[in-house]
Amino acid sequence: MSKLVLANLKMYQSTKESVDDYINKLKEVKDKFIVFPSTIYLEKFIQNNFTCGVQNASVHNPGPYTSEVSIHSLKNMGIKYVLLGHSEVRQNMAEDDELINRKIKQAINNNLKVILCIGESLEAYNQSQTKIILKSQIEKALKDISEEVIISYEPVWAIGSGKTPTNNEIEDITKYIKSLFDYDVKVLYGGSVSDENINTLNEIPNIDGFLIGKAAIDPSSLMKIIEVAEK
Ligand code: PEP
Repeated sequence: MSKLVLANLKMYQSTKESVDDYINKLKEVKDKFIVFPSTIYLEKFIQNNFTCGVQNASVHNPGPYTSEVSIHSLKNMGIKYVLLGHSEVRQNMAEDDELINRKIKQAINNNLKVILCIGESLEAYNQSQTKIILKSQIEKALKDISEEVIISYEPVWAIGSGKTPTNNEIEDITKYIKSLFDYDVKVLYGGSVSDENINTLNEIPNIDGFLIGKAAIDPSSLMKIIEVAEK
């Protein structure tokens, strides 16, 4: 079975031209990955029939919430997936597990598929606290939720750092995460996945796919990652 490939473009793209170029270079492989662009460029990706997700969304129903984007409007424009709990959002926007739990419920009620991002800090990793942190994040974020979600394991210290856990560590953590669910949950790995390490990471036997940030900005890197993940 080929793996899921998710491209989290974060806030990297900032011109219409760069987005057009990106779309042109990747349209041949558009059915092989899910793209999470900047919200203002979503329409372009949708018009070109890419499968799209969003990097975050409001917890509120449409109403008086200046600057926010409702899940209802996203669903109506054809968005299928939402990333929730990304560590940059947890840090920069002070989102906690309780808010993430409410957002997951809002997304599920609107039939969006949820990718819940979880991961430990470097300090927790060094203190061998990874599993304790991940269990707590999962329990709190998925409180009173029985619908299926996708989990993306993204150690905070691996995001954008060029560092990754070893294959054995990722395999062990993936096995542990799967053991916490009573359904066959899909578990992705994210954190410094690149066209240079994808051959190695793709050997992890129990991983269901990859969430890629920086390397996904370069169409040729992303294409190489897709090609390897398909094997
Ligand atoms: C991410 O932020 O989801 C991510 C995986 O980033 P990067 O690939 O840049 O480490």
